[in-house]
Amino acid sequence: MKNAVGTTGLILNEPLLWKIGKKGRSGFSLPRRDIDLSPLDSALEGQGPDFPDLSEVDVVRHYTRLSTWNFGVDTGMYPLGSCTMKYNPKTNERQASLPGLAQAHPLLPPQLAQGTLKIMYDLERYLAEVTGLPAVTLQPAAGAQGELTGMLIFYAFHKRKHQKRSKILIPDTAHGTNPASAALCGYKSIPVNSNKEGILDPETVAGQMDEDTAGIMITNPNTLGLFEDNIRQVAAIVHAKGGLVYADGANMNAVMGIVNMADLGVDVLHLNLHKTFSTPHGGGGPGSGPVCVTREIEPFLPVPRVIRHEDQYRLSDDRPESIGKIHAFYGNFGIQIRAYAYILSMGADLKKASQFAVLSANYIKERLKGVYHLPYDKPCMHECVFTDKHQQQYKVTTLDIAKRLIDYGFHPPTIYFPLVVQGAIMVEPTETEPKENLDQLVDALISIAAEAAEKPERLRKAPVNPKVRRLDETTAARKPCLAG
Ligand SMILES: *Cc1c(COP(=O)(O)O)cnc(C)c1O
Repeated sequence: MKNAVGTTGLILNEPLLWKIGKKGRSGFSLPRRDIDLSPLDSALEGQGPDFPDLSEVDVVRHYTRLSTWNFGVDTGMYPLGSCTMKYNPKTNERQASLPGLAQAHPLLPPQLAQGTLKIMYDLERYLAEVTGLPAVTLQPAAGAQGELTGMLIFYAFHKRKHQKRSKILIPDTAHGTNPASAALCGYKSIPVNSNKEGILDPETVAGQMDEDTAGIMITNPNTLGLFEDNIRQVAAIVHAKGGLVYADGANMNAVMGIVNMADLGVDVLHLNLHKTFSTPHGGGGPGSGPVCVTREIEPFLPVPRVIRHEDQYRLSDDRPESIGKIHAFYGNFGIQIRAYAYILSMGADLKKASQFAVLSANYIKERLKGVYHLPYDKPCMHECVFTDKHQQQYKVTTLDIAKRLIDYGFHPPTIYFPLVVQGAIMVEPTETEPKENLDQLVDALISIAAEAAEKPERLRKAPVNPKVRRLDETTAARKPCLAG
């Protein structure tokens, strides 16, 4: 524990505001009343909500102290697999808050919004360049909404051919939102098993693809952090039966500037700007899940589309085959600005970002294999998956290991996901962590593995350093106590 990042130092207690308040205290003062109380005042007296009476300093200290309990990418490494919790350059926040952009009203007529329309138009082109798919909509507000958009497009595509297909193939290594999005669109999702290498076998897909199947949704790289090496053959099989190929591109940070999705046979793909392109993920804030498609699919994209005519930009609804509107106005424009600024400032270095993301994950995989069980021992993309199999003999579980990492000052990785791996521990270091931090995380995990063998009971009690210890998560979920 000597070199752990975590600390047990000055951590202040923080009671609830109701416990701090004192009757009659106030955080403001109004001029003395120079009229009599009106009947309305007395009618309301004593009937208001039970707000605590607090001074300004009570309130400022309470919230400032609570803010120091937060953990985020600005505080330390956040190796949450599948989530891409990477550090994002602050300059992109600054560009998004420029008054001319942040205060642009979405109902401005196009002649007064040329700058914002140009940003959207150019960003679509940049994302087309990054993915290899030439037509893009920026409307969807999240990855999952991008998937829904894609499924609505699948439906419209088959409808144009007077076909009503009812099923979608979804590999067991797809992200969990994929079957949910397909179901929301009325499709029945058919699970496809991955092979022992953790990827799709063309023969398995060929056995399941038929003319009642609208297509396939492939997460690539998949949720095991592995590249779908057979995606071209899989796409050919699906296309031969008249189906479409959807790629979940939320993990684009592993393949930017390296993989052309159109060359792989992908027809429709979504990106998560709030993972790969400089918006923090996981805060529950607004997101953006642009959908990129081939020229053949372009007529189905949501309206309005941003059009350029002789250096003038405007919006067009004139798309008879469009699936309609997906989001109010044009999507979450603030997120689009961050992506635009990020891509412009990175340029060709986007490829380097992906290379570093992949290198970091493989470095962690190589240093930890043997210490933790590695179910798929082959080069990975941006994340790697271990299990608690070696620790089971000491009755130490993935949950214990994750909780103990908190004592070492790390946010735990993703655990028990992907579902195809029992006791999964999924680490995504991202491209923004220096080697020293990767080494600290690996050293902590090695030290925890040693503790598992020597003092397993210590792990079962972890975490012991933070203010909040091991929670009863089932009771917390079923009977939340919101009053503290
Ligand atoms: C995060 C993620 C999603 C879902 O994105 P949201 O914006 O949270 O809806 C979908 N697929 C993959 C592979 C992801 O990593």
